[in-house]
Amino acid sequence: MKYEDLVPWTAKVAAWAHNYYATLRGRPVRPTVQPGSVAAQLPVAPPEQPESMETIFADFERLIPDAMTHWQHPRFFAYFPSNAAPASILAEQVANVLSAQCMLWQTSPAATELETVMIDWLRQALDLPAGWRGVLQDTATSATLSAVLTMRERALEWRGLTEGLSGAPILRIYASDQTHSSIDKAIRLAGIGQNNLVKVPTDGDWAMRADRLEEAIEQDRAAGYLPAGVIGCIGGTSIGASDRLHEILAVARRHSLYSHVDAAWAGSAMVCPEFREIWRGIELADSVVFNPHKWLGANFDCSVQFLRQPADQVRTLAIRPHYLQTLDAEEITNYSEWTIPLGRRFRALKLWFLLRAYGLEGLRARIRNHVHWAEQAAEQLQAFPHFQVVTAPRLSLFTFRYVPPASDPDVATRELLERINRDGRTYLTQTTHAGQFVIRFSIGHFETTWDDVATALQAIQESAVTMQ
Ligand SMILES: *Cc1c(COP(=O)(O)O)cnc(C)c1O
Repeated sequence: MKYEDLVPWTAKVAAWAHNYYATLRGRPVRPTVQPGSVAAQLPVAPPEQPESMETIFADFERLIPDAMTHWQHPRFFAYFPSNAAPASILAEQVANVLSAQCMLWQTSPAATELETVMIDWLRQALDLPAGWRGVLQDTATSATLSAVLTMRERALEWRGLTEGLSGAPILRIYASDQTHSSIDKAIRLAGIGQNNLVKVPTDGDWAMRADRLEEAIEQDRAAGYLPAGVIGCIGGTSIGASDRLHEILAVARRHSLYSHVDAAWAGSAMVCPEFREIWRGIELADSVVFNPHKWLGANFDCSVQFLRQPADQVRTLAIRPHYLQTLDAEEITNYSEWTIPLGRRFRALKLWFLLRAYGLEGLRARIRNHVHWAEQAAEQLQAFPHFQVVTAPRLSLFTFRYVPPASDPDVATRELLERINRDGRTYLTQTTHAGQFVIRFSIGHFETTWDDVATALQAIQESAVTMQ
């Protein structure tokens, strides 16, 4: 197949895409496939001879779309959204055509400079301090690992990189139990060890207690440990809990600890000034991650890590063998020195298309709707017989359970969730909160309307009726 042969196929793919989106609302959000059923329909060995695009595409249409969970379905209320605004899908197609590897300024001048400007646009959109810089990462997991490695090396005065950790003091990192598992993973992978992630107790609002943080740091110091960093949580994955950053980051500052804030989901909502109270104190952070690929509309993957001063992270992650050196001036940025992978996709383009095609006002309007609808949905659901809203909406996420008389609420709620998801009109997922099995309802898709939310509520209520 030659590039000329692509031309009719790009048109066919565009027509397919149009039809996919035009029919998406009518499809079940989650497929009814059995594990192994897709693999069973694929040849066990690769073809020796080329096949025609007609055959390949026909097989794609036959086997793949109906066996996918439709993340862009407007009634996808599971997990957190992974939004793909049409303008960002288009940008991603253009980036595919360029297929650039954006590791250094010299391998991708426009991509590098666009990235710098997009980070600064987003810094302004979220009202973060002037002078902060940042970098695009694939996921929040990578940004958090980068920050934890920086905490480690800063505490060890960059000796860990050359000498390893075996002779080093035991490091300690502090976070609440509302943080995402990516924090635990980072601590494990950074060689710090799960046992040295201190889960500081939270208060009645599920926010880390600053007094207990301070106590933990002081006790650890007295016991010979080396405190290295504090990780704040804004919009936790389970119920959307947030730490009071102005309190805990002040403690981190007082003890000269590096700090990182995980706002992977909630960060997008900070484009709306009225929601910024939840991250009051953010200006005290050293590193902040948020995922435009969750709620803002940039399609996956696109995670932004803001840095007060990139120097510590660059000192931790940069490595310059001769073949990667660029023989030029100081003023260029090589973003691969800020991240773990060397190779980098052209992610800035979708942010550029997105921010221009909707404007901050367009993005704010969507997020405000989602927050408003979550409040309405929680209120309506609370009025259904035997339904309980367990955690009130935090931004656009709330949790609920089903407590029919004379039944175990955990068992009934789990059964209800299975029925809701078999129904297909919507898709919801669960969490454990304060020892209880609860269902999360998270609104965030770009094309969701109130009617979609109302349809989901109806599906929930009807699923409960089938249990009686
Ligand atoms: C989704 C989420 C993550 C993980 O994000 P990835 O980009 O998939 O690594 C981390 N933290 C929070 C709070 C999240 O909601």
